[in-house]
Amino acid sequence: MSIGTKCVQGGYTPGNGEPREVPIYQSTTFKYASSADMGKLFDLEAEGYFYSRLQNPTCDIVAKKIAELEGGTAAMLTGSGQAANFYAVFNIASCGDHVVSSSSIYGGTYNLFAVTMKRMGIDFTFVSPDCTPEELEAAFRPNTKAVFGETIANPALTVLDIEKFARAAHNHGVPLIVDNTFATPVNCRPFEWGADIVTHSTTKYMDGHGSAVGGAIVDSGKFDWNAHKDKFPGLTTPDESYHGVTYTERFGLGGAFITKATAQLMRDFGSVQSPQSAFYLNLGLESLHVRMKRHCENGLAVAKFLQTCDKVAWVQYPGLEGDKYYDIAKKYMPLGTCGVVSFGVKGGREAAERFMGKLRIAAIETHVADARTCCLHPASATHRQMNDEELRAAGVTPDLVRFSCGLEDAEDLIADIKQALE
Ligand SMILES: *Cc1c(COP(=O)(O)O)cnc(C)c1O
Repeated sequence: MSIGTKCVQGGYTPGNGEPREVPIYQSTTFKYASSADMGKLFDLEAEGYFYSRLQNPTCDIVAKKIAELEGGTAAMLTGSGQAANFYAVFNIASCGDHVVSSSSIYGGTYNLFAVTMKRMGIDFTFVSPDCTPEELEAAFRPNTKAVFGETIANPALTVLDIEKFARAAHNHGVPLIVDNTFATPVNCRPFEWGADIVTHSTTKYMDGHGSAVGGAIVDSGKFDWNAHKDKFPGLTTPDESYHGVTYTERFGLGGAFITKATAQLMRDFGSVQSPQSAFYLNLGLESLHVRMKRHCENGLAVAKFLQTCDKVAWVQYPGLEGDKYYDIAKKYMPLGTCGVVSFGVKGGREAAERFMGKLRIAAIETHVADARTCCLHPASATHRQMNDEELRAAGVTPDLVRFSCGLEDAEDLIADIKQALE
C-alpha cells in the first residue's frame, strides 16, 4: 500500500459484521476465564489485554497504523510527545550513561535532556546539526548509548542530515533516534535513511486539529542489539522484574525495544494515551497525507510572499529556494517539509508584537501544526525570561515570529499578513 492508503486504512481491518470505524475500547480492564490464563499474560507468554495502563486495543490499532506509516516493526502510543522522547531514550540509557543530541531541538525536549534526565544521571552532549563528521565523532564517549535529533527542528526549522547522524551512531554501535514530528511519515521516513527509532508528538500534524495531546514511538527493527550486547544489557539479558525474560530472545529484533518500553516504562511511569484520544488521533491520521500537502503549499506560498515584503527582515523556511536547508530538505523531503515558517519583522521585538496583534486570521497560540493558522512570538512567550543576548544564543532573535500555516486558503493568509504589516 502507498502512504495515503496506509493513512486511511492502516492498522485496522474489521472482520465480518465488525465496526467499520476503529472502536473505542473504553475499558480499564479485560475479563479472563481463569487465573492461569491471566498468569500467562503477566509472564509475557501469551498475548492479550489485561489492564489499559499496559495496553489497550484502540491504542494498539492506532500504534499499528503509525508503525505502518513509518515502515517500522512495532510501535506504542504515549500520553504526549514528551513521554515518547523520554521513554525512547530511557529505554536504553540509564544512570551513568551518555547521549549525543542535536542542539537544535524542541525546547521541552532540551529541558527534559539537559535538566531532568541529567538529574537522573544521564549526560547529554549537544552538537550543532550542521557539525562536521569530525565534530560529531568527538562528541561520543565509551558510555554513549544513543544519538538524537529532529528531522525538522521546532522552532529553529533546521533540517537534520539523517545519514550523517546515522553513520556516526552506527560506527559507535548505538541507535539513532529521530523525532519526526514536523515532517511526518508522509514527507519523510527516517528509517529509509538509517534511523533506528522514530518518535512523534502526535499532538501536532498527526492529530492535526488541536484535539488531543499524544505521542508515539516506532521501532525500525533494524538495530542489532545483540551485536552490542554489553551496551544494552536491558534488552539482551534477563529482566528480573519480568520473570527473567530476555527481550531480544523472546521478541526478536523487531519487537524487543517496544515490548521492553511497554512492559517496564509504561508499567512504572504510566504515561498512557487514552483510547478516546487515540480515536481522535486516528481520525487525524486518516487525512494526514491530504493535509500535509496543503500545509506545505500554504507554507511555501506564505514564505515566498514574506520574501517580497520590505517590512520583513528575513524569512526561514526549508522548502524555500535559497534557504540554508533547501538542498538537504529536497533530499530527505522531496514532497515538502511542513507548514511552519519563521521570519523577522523589521523593528525587532516591539514591531513583531505589534504585527501579531493586528493579525485577524492567524491566532496567537503556543500550539503549532494544526488546521487553523496560528503564530507565536517566542521572545514574549516561550522565551520571555531571556534578554536579547540570551535569545540570540538560543537561536531565537527578538524579532522572530513562528507562523504555522493551517489549511485555510493561502490568499487569505497572505492578505492577513499584508494588512497586519501595513
Ligand atoms: C511539541 C513537540 C514535542 C513535545 O510534544 P508534546 O505532545 O507537547 O508533549 C516534542 N518534539 C517536537 C518536535 C514537538 O514539536
